[in-house]
Amino acid sequence: MEPLIIIGTGLAGYTLAKEFRKHDPHSPLTLITADDGRYYSKPMLSIGMSRKQIDSADANEMAEQLNASILTNTRVTAIDPQHHLIKIGRDELRYRQLVLAWGADVFQLEVEGDGIEEIYSVNNLQTYEVFRKAISGKKRVAIVGSGLVGCEFANDLAASEHHVEMISQSHTLMPKLLPPDVAAPLQVCLQALGVHFHFGIGLAEVNRTDGGLELVLNSGKLVHVDVVLSAIGIKPHISMALEAGLTVNEGIQVNHLLETSEPDVFALGDCAEVDGHVLLYVAPLMACAKTLARTLAGHPTPLRYGPMPVGVKTPICPVVVCPPPKGSLGQWQIHGEGLDLRACFVQEEKLLGYALTGQYVKEKYALNKKLSTS
Ligand code: FAD
Repeated sequence: MEPLIIIGTGLAGYTLAKEFRKHDPHSPLTLITADDGRYYSKPMLSIGMSRKQIDSADANEMAEQLNASILTNTRVTAIDPQHHLIKIGRDELRYRQLVLAWGADVFQLEVEGDGIEEIYSVNNLQTYEVFRKAISGKKRVAIVGSGLVGCEFANDLAASEHHVEMISQSHTLMPKLLPPDVAAPLQVCLQALGVHFHFGIGLAEVNRTDGGLELVLNSGKLVHVDVVLSAIGIKPHISMALEAGLTVNEGIQVNHLLETSEPDVFALGDCAEVDGHVLLYVAPLMACAKTLARTLAGHPTPLRYGPMPVGVKTPICPVVVCPPPKGSLGQWQIHGEGLDLRACFVQEEKLLGYALTGQYVKEKYALNKKLSTS
């Protein structure tokens, strides 16, 4: 019997494999990954300075645990849904069913200068290790981007005695997730930790100097650092799906059964667009993995998302946000003061999302309940 093949051993691929094995312990299962196949929690990478190490399990341990074959350092180069096969260079592998869990690509900063090799981005354990090596013994870090990942790294690096300069085209922190009033307390706390902000501005050049790097912002302002971390975001990896004729939009489009437009090909995680939504977070991929595992084991199960809060790992100012669905009409109603705020996104008295800071984060359970029933 041909195997179920999962491309990708990130949280999406491995969680799906674990869930699948709960329903089907024996049928052939192959995972393929371009990296070394270590199992780890990616969200831990942005708080790695304050932890002694990032826990991981290697591909051999995972293969044993999952009763699966895992092909590591193996890049799939094409998929051919018509013939139920995938290509790895000149080699071909046949599948019974295929799951695309191959994640997203980082946006590259478009800047000039002779120091662009000192720009790092972190979207997996390998790139994290490269970044850690680059900042070893260095104190001054510029973070470009003020989203979730940028804010978490800013807190982690500043708390471990790094001097952090945050450069962002936006005017507030986490503009896609937080209303400006709720982002303000986080900014106050990060500022108190020593983070400097350059908002509403882009990075134009990175040049080497004797003592490190000189950054030229597009206002002409100069900033001196040792290393640049780009955290300007990621985009679902769609090119191979497009070449294979799958329907794609921002991500690989799937329906409520996580089926792509081609039979026996499914997608989940950062590469997938589920019902019009690309959700680049852990909670959605966990929900997808649980339901897709049942479908792959022969019990078609439609996906139903419950509330999916994102805990922002900024211990200097705890934040939890459960964003309203994209395009929702309504408004934020904000209560509290100072660092403690509760913001509810409401449409005709119906709660659609929330953002909490400080003391109010403990209300997330009650609000999740309210979201489930509203
Ligand atoms: P990935 O983890 O990117 O896995 C993709 C896999 O596909 C890899 O194994 C890769 O090698 C493989 N692959 C790619 N192309 C090929 C190919 N051609 N052939 C073979 N294999 C291939 N989310 C939250 O909800 N909360 C958080 O606090 C949070 N913090 C984060 C902090 C950081 C620093 C980052 C970077 C992300 C964070 N996220 C957070 C987002 C979350 O971690 C991701 O949404 C999630 O891990 C994505 O998992 P994935 O398996 O879809 O993709």
